[in-house]
Amino acid sequence: MLNRVLGALVLCWAGMAQAQPAAIPLVDTHMHFESVPQMNFHASLAIAIKEMNRRNIRMSLLMSPPRASFYASINHDIEDLLFAAQAHPDRFAVLGGGGSLTIMINETRPEAVDEAMRQKFRQRAERIIALGGVGFGEMFIQHLSLPAMGPGHAYSSVPADHPLLLLLADIAAEHDVPIDMHFDMVPQDMPLPPILKSPPNPAQLQANRAAFERLLAHNRKARIVWSHVGFEPINTRNPQVVTEMLQAHPNLYMSFRLNRGGPRNTMALEPSGQLRGGWLALVQAFPDRFMLGSDAFYAPTGISRGSSAEGMDNLRGLIEQLPPELALQVASENARRLYKLKPGQPAAN
Ligand SMILES: [Zn+2]
Repeated sequence: MLNRVLGALVLCWAGMAQAQPAAIPLVDTHMHFESVPQMNFHASLAIAIKEMNRRNIRMSLLMSPPRASFYASINHDIEDLLFAAQAHPDRFAVLGGGGSLTIMINETRPEAVDEAMRQKFRQRAERIIALGGVGFGEMFIQHLSLPAMGPGHAYSSVPADHPLLLLLADIAAEHDVPIDMHFDMVPQDMPLPPILKSPPNPAQLQANRAAFERLLAHNRKARIVWSHVGFEPINTRNPQVVTEMLQAHPNLYMSFRLNRGGPRNTMALEPSGQLRGGWLALVQAFPDRFMLGSDAFYAPTGISRGSSAEGMDNLRGLIEQLPPELALQVASENARRLYKLKPGQPAAN
């Protein structure tokens, strides 16, 4: 009996959601708590809950941004974030490694990886899973420094087929958890686009696509979520390239960050906020591979960077422009399936 009532409720909820795009609950698969200039994660949590309720974001995946080296004042990882998922298990899940595995990879030259290092890396990765991590993230391959992200936003780059990244793919596959990956892709060597500064970025960017494809091919059971599609700094992820990559790599997924629309076809939205035709066709061609990932940094006073009110609005805007079934997949169902999430019922408010 209870099951039948619950079933009817779910049907009713899904029906309402289909009729009313604003009612579709979202899952934000990529967000952070701000640690600069200081960490006050309990205050960040309160702000995040408020914002999530206001925007009907049912669940968020919380993770540290990727780090190239250890700075005690800002460094954090799953241990510091778990409290959010413990306090609100139906609203948050946590990924780990952004403040530990990333540093180990960046600080170890590929040729220096020996058995002891592999053991140490595996131990940390398995600890993250044991603590309840639903995936590894935010990891990085190449992370360009963006002026909009403030003076502390570093440039960092590691080979995409670094032996520790290959090992991480194996560990992720063994535990059946995804890897959230920041990867500013360079298809072939190219000069740094003029909107970015050198230093800290190199004046010449070196090709890294082929190495990323080796990582994807290394273990097909490792699912990699390539974050920030639809708004990225070097304008290399156009629909054509994304199609090629999704076709070639069945274990590749992506999450949309949509801070602004713009004139380039690497941006999923027009300046007006309208979804570009090429992008709609792309999502339709790969309906189970796209998710949302705001990249919002929640500070005690609100979202400090990574996303903006416009960026958050645009996530909803994207969903509203998709056909109903596809809207549900991108809004929540793909994330739910991939990360094995159990989001709660809609909030009362
Ligand atoms: Zn990122």
